[in-house]
Amino acid sequence: MYEAADFYDIDDLLTPEERAVRDRARAWVEAQLARMLTDITKAQLLALRLGRLRDAGKATPARVSMAKRANVETALEVARTTRELLDGVGILERHQCFRHMCNLESVKTYEGTQDMHTLILGREITGLSALTG
Ligand SMILES: Cc1cc2nc3c(=O)[nH]c(=O)nc-3n(C[C@H](O)[C@H](O)[C@H](O)COP(=O)(O)OP(=O)(O)OC[C@H]3O[C@@H](n4cnc5c(N)ncnc54)[C@H](O)[C@@H]3O)c2cc1C
Repeated sequence: MYEAADFYDIDDLLTPEERAVRDRARAWVEAQLARMLTDITKAQLLALRLGRLRDAGKATPARVSMAKRANVETALEVARTTRELLDGVGILERHQCFRHMCNLESVKTYEGTQDMHTLILGREITGLSALTG
């Protein structure tokens, strides 16, 4: 069927029901792409803002924590969603999203864990420290 689709307009081969399913699947993938592009753009804006604060000598540890906490999480979510879009084969190493996903799992620790950045931000907001040790 896939070979035939190369020669004929695939629409000719599909029933109306199959066309409706395909269109819904396409719309769902596009919705994921739109969300990921928006999230990546927001992460870039956060990094740009932090960079400008740093140039002005105002990049406090809490501000760095906010950017690292948010952007590593965004990057991981995007990698995971991309893996999901590829279904089961998305876990194969030959797909770039899986390589990024594995790398980002370690980035999540070496840039400081979510928990620690959350506690640092909590301290900044409330003035009270829940950090131990
Ligand atoms: C593969 C790899 C190699 C690395 N190599 C290096 C290296 O060579 N040199 C280097 O400097 N760094 C290195 N790092 C980074 C380093 O491990 C992390 O920066 C560090 O572990 C992050 O500290 P953290 O406090 O956020 O989490 P961790 O110290 O890993 O703590 C884990 C969890 O324990 C809890 N926790 C920890 N401390 C507290 C506390 N005080 N209060 C309450 N809860 C707490 C939190 O829930 C936290 O999420 C490496 C990381 C990876 C993944």
